[in-house]
Amino acid sequence: MFDDLRDLYQEVILDHGRKPRNFRRLEDADRSARGDNPMCGDRLELFLKLAPDGRIADAAFQGRGCAISTASASLLTETVKGKTAAEAHALSDSFRELAMTGTCPHCQAALEEEMERLQPLSGVHEFPSRVKCATLAWHTLNAALDGAKEASSE
Ligand code: ZN
Repeated sequence: MFDDLRDLYQEVILDHGRKPRNFRRLEDADRSARGDNPMCGDRLELFLKLAPDGRIADAAFQGRGCAISTASASLLTETVKGKTAAEAHALSDSFRELAMTGTCPHCQAALEEEMERLQPLSGVHEFPSRVKCATLAWHTLNAALDGAKEASSE
């Protein structure tokens, strides 16, 4: 990877880690789930507000975690808005592939823009212990969409 691209990615992670977007409780959430990554100590709660047609109208989270888990949750809340449950699951699968392998050859073309926004987290595949930090929010998203209350990175 080019050094300037690596720096840009680093900057995005630090920015979202320090100033997470949508970092709040959604009091009127239709779905919520807690996520726990005991390997690192990351804990978060994700909230989803659904529109009448089932699309995700709003997403927010609260919790404590390392910069990578916080940045990933922050980017998640920004990228899932407007998605149907099926699209959000597809995005979650694609992101987990990106985090584990650094690329996503099977990603749907329809999700290209979202995957580009999540690209800064692709570097975690070089650090297997941090992959769980990056994917925690996405496991939690799947749990919330499926009506489960708890998700674990284990
Ligand atoms: Zn972590």
